[in-house]
Amino acid sequence: MTTVTDTLVIGGGSAGLFAALRAAAHGSVIVLEAGRDGGDPPPHWALYEYALPDAYYHRYTDLASGQVMPQGRGLGGGSTVNSAAALRGQPWCYDSWGVPGWGWDDVLPALNAIESDQQFGGRPYHGDAGLIPITRLAPGPLDEAVFAWCDAAGYPAIADHNEPGALGHAVWTTNRRDGGRWGTWAGVAPAARAAGAEIRPDTTATRLIFDGTRCTGAEATSAGETEVITAGRVIVCAGAYGTPELLLRSGVGPRDVLGALGVAPVSVLAGVGANVMDHPWCLLNVDVRDAGMIEARPVSGALLRYELDDPAAGHVEAEIFPWQLRPYDLTSPPTTIAFTAALMAPRSRGSFTLTPDGRELRVGLLTDDADAAHMVTIVRETAAMIDGLAKDGVVTVPDGAWWQAGEDAELTAACRRVVGTYNHHSGTCRMGDPGAADTVVAPDLSVLGTTGLYVADSSVLPVIPRANTNLISMAIGYRAPSLAI
Ligand SMILES: Cc1cc2nc3c(=O)[nH]c(=O)nc-3n(C[C@H](O)[C@H](O)[C@H](O)COP(=O)(O)OP(=O)(O)OC[C@H]3O[C@@H](n4cnc5c(N)ncnc54)[C@H](O)[C@@H]3O)c2cc1C
Repeated sequence: MTTVTDTLVIGGGSAGLFAALRAAAHGSVIVLEAGRDGGDPPPHWALYEYALPDAYYHRYTDLASGQVMPQGRGLGGGSTVNSAAALRGQPWCYDSWGVPGWGWDDVLPALNAIESDQQFGGRPYHGDAGLIPITRLAPGPLDEAVFAWCDAAGYPAIADHNEPGALGHAVWTTNRRDGGRWGTWAGVAPAARAAGAEIRPDTTATRLIFDGTRCTGAEATSAGETEVITAGRVIVCAGAYGTPELLLRSGVGPRDVLGALGVAPVSVLAGVGANVMDHPWCLLNVDVRDAGMIEARPVSGALLRYELDDPAAGHVEAEIFPWQLRPYDLTSPPTTIAFTAALMAPRSRGSFTLTPDGRELRVGLLTDDADAAHMVTIVRETAAMIDGLAKDGVVTVPDGAWWQAGEDAELTAACRRVVGTYNHHSGTCRMGDPGAADTVVAPDLSVLGTTGLYVADSSVLPVIPRANTNLISMAIGYRAPSLAI
């Protein structure tokens, strides 16, 4: 069976649903989503729960550490399973890319257009009419204790973490409505459908179809049936690993990988699957004196953002924030709090590829020595915060905690042992100068060496911003149709 559409969007996640909504203004749109569609409006659990059923994740394994790296699966993609932490990053994140059309002044209009900021929507660097509500929840007693420690340590209080250039302490910016996570399933899918986009859940694109180097559509399977969808243009929004996997299966990627897979090359691009990026985090778990000090809600309380004193390294931004483990791990006692030490400007890079035996992912967290040294500094500051709170009787620290390693070398080894993913996988189809060896997509998001094929999701990020990656992924999807059509 063959279906024809003007625009085929592959992946109905953070970027894909925005791309579909905007493409619908230019003609017919079909969205293929490998996971489920739970309907409009999303059920209560989809807004308020954080340990979701297995069906809502693609699970990848980091070969080096054995850690499982989840990715969202189902309508809304990552925005359905994430914590709704909503940061944008700093202007210098985007300006440093050096990609024409993707500096801060170019990206800001899209960041504004997708949001409706409940507190600061009237400011020139915010939007008040977009589909994603941005809000800041009231701090609880633990958050207030963290703020008091930050004040005493000399960190400035700020009102809005998304004010350009802001560094200091405030409650998280979050994408929530009535306290519930409001991603693209809740916020964008209804509008995309109303605009005419046809969303097909439980449908996986298995390969792109080319006529020479022109992408003419995709083959997809659903419930054991295979279908060919012919399209005027194809926008791949399958996420940081789904996108390179589909390109590799379709003949777009490094020559040796395609050769080993037995796939005829359409466009030989060394950068497909390279440049894996993520923010490394180390968790310092303690117990809060009583569970009433922190609400049973995920990341949404106090957040400290600051830069390390290493100007030569350029804006080495760090985050420290507490959150309750229980919403994610229902077996965790309600008093257990993770203080996160996160490095937001990592240099480490990993890789993702396919072999005849399957996927090979190496995320590479803290493999760069400078990253490891920076993480040690951030962990020491987090430990100082915890010790201050312990002195005030707010938290208790377990004996022999891993971060109490004395020497830098010992703590470096400990950080490398415990480091985990902040779930911000990106960069596997990097956007950039078409003449550079590792570029996969041009600044207009077209895949090099092809026509009619675009990538628009977290995989195009050339360098990961100093922020959680949901809002920028949405903004990339939002911008894609105006660049591609
Ligand atoms: C557990 C977790 C927590 C996170 N927490 C936060 C947070 O609090 N704040 C934040 O800003 N960011 C967070 N992130 C990151 C953020 O959600 C992602 O960066 C963002 O959702 C990526 O958007 P995307 O459009 O690139 O991909 P996704 O949103 O992952 O969308 C890709 C979609 O494509 C589908 N797909 C894949 N392959 C195919 C195929 N072959 N055919 C059809 N469909 C396919 C997938 O099922 C998925 O729905 C988190 C991520 C995770 C996994």
